[in-house]
Amino acid sequence: MKIATTIEEVRQEVREWKRQGLTVGLVPTMGALHEGHASLVERAYRDCNRVVASVFVNPTQFAADEDLESYPRDFEEDCRILQRKGCHLVFHPSVSEMYPEGFATYVELTSDMTKQLCGKTRPGHFKGVCTVVSKLFNIVTPDKAYFGEKDAQQLAVIRRMVFDMAMDVKIVGCPTVREADGLAKSSRNDYLNDDERKAACVLYRALQAALEYIGDGPHAVAVSAPGTSAGPCTEASNVLPLIRNIIAEEPLAEIDYIEIVDGETLQPVEIIKAGDLIAIAIYIGKTRLIDNVRV
Ligand code: AMP
Repeated sequence: MKIATTIEEVRQEVREWKRQGLTVGLVPTMGALHEGHASLVERAYRDCNRVVASVFVNPTQFAADEDLESYPRDFEEDCRILQRKGCHLVFHPSVSEMYPEGFATYVELTSDMTKQLCGKTRPGHFKGVCTVVSKLFNIVTPDKAYFGEKDAQQLAVIRRMVFDMAMDVKIVGCPTVREADGLAKSSRNDYLNDDERKAACVLYRALQAALEYIGDGPHAVAVSAPGTSAGPCTEASNVLPLIRNIIAEEPLAEIDYIEIVDGETLQPVEIIKAGDLIAIAIYIGKTRLIDNVRV
């Protein structure tokens, strides 16, 4: 496994692979890797001849009051994990390599998509994400790029950006990897103390309860939302309080948002249909955790 810190090193390597007719998969990460990230690399390894993973804590997606400085970093351990999963090249640039002096070009969605859900409390976040991901696409020129469904809004926003800008890369969404008690694996779980860690599983419990409620016919209203296949549908206004009540029972949890949105446009829905997302963000102590399930 090679480690590149400059754009030019990556370009040279990828140029040679492409000359040989090999396909390239990219897994963008911010490091502090866990089994969630590893699953993306595994998938890329199965799909593509060569796998590039980027490890870069992207400053432009953090607001001034967020955890940029304290974000967990362990590049040596990251490399061990990436090597074990078959990664061929790690791109680990400095901030000045990605954002040289005078940097002035950003990629931003102008629709409501980035203003919903996490966008409400993290206004510049997706502008930072889209900018760094576009730049990574330009550097690596991957055939496919892999993103976790855990960050469902990020995945939807990146799909939109790629479509709008006719970027020549196939976006592959990968299932959320969870701990045994259902908590989605996240680098930010490291911030939780023992009590907080126990409290954090309320997130998955609430999502599962919502899915069960929706799946249980009696609550369903006998209509189908326009453009969806016929089947039992449930009103969001019945499901949202159920989730809210479950989370309210956990004293360490504070709700940021609970929303049921269209899986593609991320607009809130009234009647729940297949493909919608139930998305939650909560604070456990100072740590903000997100999770979602697809109906
Ligand atoms: P991050 O390092 O947090 O920027 O995440 C890098 C990529 O890993 C993103 O596409 C995430 O959605 C994905 N990811 C993070 N946690 C998980 C998880 N538990 N399961 C699957 N993918 C994940």
